[in-house]
Amino acid sequence: MRAFKAVRLTRYFSILSFALIAIAGTALGLSVQDQATRQVTTMAHRHNEAMSQVFINELWPVFSAFVAGSSGRSAADLRTTSETLGLGTKTSALMKNSDIIKVKVYNRYGLTVFSSDPSQVGDNKRGNAGFIAALAGQATSALTHRNQFDSFEGSRVDVDVISSYLPIRDGGQVAGVIELYQDVTPFVQKLQQVLLKVVLIGAGVMFALYLMQLMVVRYAQGILHTQETALRESNRELDARVEKRTHELAAINSHLEEEVLERRRAEARLDHLAHHDPLTGLPNRLLFAEQLQRSVSKAERHGHQLAVLFIDLDRFKDVNDTLGHAVGDELLVEVARRLTGQLRGGDLLARLGGDEFVCILEEIHTPQDASRVADKLIGRIAESISIRENDLVISASIGISLYPADGMNADNLLRAADTAMYQAKKHGRNTYHFHTPEMTQYAQDRAQLERLLRHAIESNELDVHYQIKMTAADNACPSGVEALARWNSAVLGPVSPVQFIPVAEETGFIVTLGEWVLRTACRQMAAWRASGIDVPRISVNLSVRQLERADIVEVVRSALEESGLPPDALELEITESVIMNAEDAISVLKRLRELGVRLAVDDFGTGYSSLAYLKLLPINTLKIDRSFVIGIGDNLGDESIIQAVIGMARSLGLSTVAEGVETTRQLEFLRHAGCNEIQGYHFGKPQPADEFLQSWRRATPTQELV
Ligand code: C2E
Ligand code: MG
Ligand code: MG
Repeated sequence: MRAFKAVRLTRYFSILSFALIAIAGTALGLSVQDQATRQVTTMAHRHNEAMSQVFINELWPVFSAFVAGSSGRSAADLRTTSETLGLGTKTSALMKNSDIIKVKVYNRYGLTVFSSDPSQVGDNKRGNAGFIAALAGQATSALTHRNQFDSFEGSRVDVDVISSYLPIRDGGQVAGVIELYQDVTPFVQKLQQVLLKVVLIGAGVMFALYLMQLMVVRYAQGILHTQETALRESNRELDARVEKRTHELAAINSHLEEEVLERRRAEARLDHLAHHDPLTGLPNRLLFAEQLQRSVSKAERHGHQLAVLFIDLDRFKDVNDTLGHAVGDELLVEVARRLTGQLRGGDLLARLGGDEFVCILEEIHTPQDASRVADKLIGRIAESISIRENDLVISASIGISLYPADGMNADNLLRAADTAMYQAKKHGRNTYHFHTPEMTQYAQDRAQLERLLRHAIESNELDVHYQIKMTAADNACPSGVEALARWNSAVLGPVSPVQFIPVAEETGFIVTLGEWVLRTACRQMAAWRASGIDVPRISVNLSVRQLERADIVEVVRSALEESGLPPDALELEITESVIMNAEDAISVLKRLRELGVRLAVDDFGTGYSSLAYLKLLPINTLKIDRSFVIGIGDNLGDESIIQAVIGMARSLGLSTVAEGVETTRQLEFLRHAGCNEIQGYHFGKPQPADEFLQSWRRATPTQELV
């Protein structure tokens, strides 16, 4: 806070006033004294002049000769002569009753030829200023105070005298100088009294003025003091407020800083989350893509090679399905740890998702460097892992792509490594495979297929064909139909579902495609029924990707509502491996069953379903895979599997359908084994709707009667 300096106005004013009073009093006194002295001097001077004239007129005739002949004479001589001439007596007689108390006469050379004080006769005043001026014709006077003065009448004390040097003119010439002393003591005393009075009155007036002004000043100081106190108070308040506000601001500031810090931490956490896999802590696909791009640029600048290793665990899903997700997760963490342990500091390992890992090896010199690393990784993963008292043995397939041979950018390199990994799987798993140019061709074809397939629906290139199902009884009659997607590409011609369905599944397009088939099939069924053709049931294939969608139950419900088909007229075929792999499959299947639709396990026998698991599924039908039907007549193993499946199905209360039945022999075997329904070329191939209708009519004996 700024300290207020007390305004001591009264004191300053008093000091200044007294100083001014003193100066003014002194100046006034001096001025009055000077003026009065001047007047006294002038008056006395005139008087002396007059008296000198009297002297000259009266006594000069006596003196002139004496003065003229005085030069060179001694003082005693002069004194004697003046006495002789009676100059002293004559002079005192002349001056009697005047104020002149002493007379001196000098000759032209400054010699005191006469003085009313005889002791001074003979003194020389040649150098005296008054004398010199008088000799030049100029009369001068001066006032002096004498403590003691020898006059005509004797010695006087404390006298004020005016002494005048006056020229004595004789025929126009200065013949000598007379000095007259006049006593002005009474004038001077009077003068001093007047002076004292003037000074006292002046000082009194000024003091009175001072007192009046002092009152004003004191009043003003009072106001100032009040204001100063008020100002001081408000200043203190202001300071207190400022201090309080400063504290508040400091608190807000530190709070803000804390928030900023927290936000930064949150951002850093978010950034880490966005770029890392939460399970293993490894970089995720996003960070990997950025890093690979950087590595490619670096390799390009320095002319190095680099390798991308695409690592996929073999049969990881089996572990997940049989031992649960928790064990699966722990396994992935352990695999990540093992892989990291085998890599150098500069290599980057990332998890792309699921059981897919990918690794960048920078600065490799030959492809062998990459294969050595791949060998090490495969070896390390193959070592048994103990998780929750389960001893697991797992293997990995690795695809390797090299920069610049297999791609010049990150996307191409990753795709090439991915393709090579599939080759490794084909080559029996637990191995690595380098990318080859042929794979690039395959990848290009696949990319084209993907692109064309995406537009197949809007280009009206897709269609649904229908394959008849017959009862297996002696007098076989049509029991249902399976809807199968067909794609007649404008570019590629007819493409088999075996080719395009897996592509659609991988790209996710199967969700759109599957829904389109479902709605088309339901509408077709409703149309047949509306025209009086009683097709009891239609089967539609459901992909794992569809099953995993949260809205699948809603989609099926809406397809039924839209077509007006009763739910039990629809059967959904789900491949065995799908049921095993889809997350939360059982609960979705249950909800579908609650809807009233029937469920069939497709391609049964190719998966690894356990009997216990099968019991949990809310299914109605098992479809025996074609691979077993083919073996009928040749392969006793296949035959006994078929028999076992049918027996098991019967004991679980499930009906059976055999697919891919082409021959009478197969039909007979299945009929004999107790299979319920038959589907295959033996009864009819998948056909377009109108052709299928004719086949149906032909195959339905009762229809002919109508
Ligand atoms: P799937 O569901 O097991 O269908 C039976 C397949 O066996 C069909 O092949 C059918 O044409 C064929 N087939 C039937 N009888 C015989 C026979 O006697 N001999 C031979 N050699 N083959 C026979 P397609 O139509 O090529 O379909 C192959 C697979 O594609 C289907 O197997 C199914 O898994 C999938 N698929 C077809 N359409 C769809 C669809 O709309 N959605 C989904 N998710 N998958 C579909
Ligand atoms: Mg099927
Ligand atoms: Mg099948």
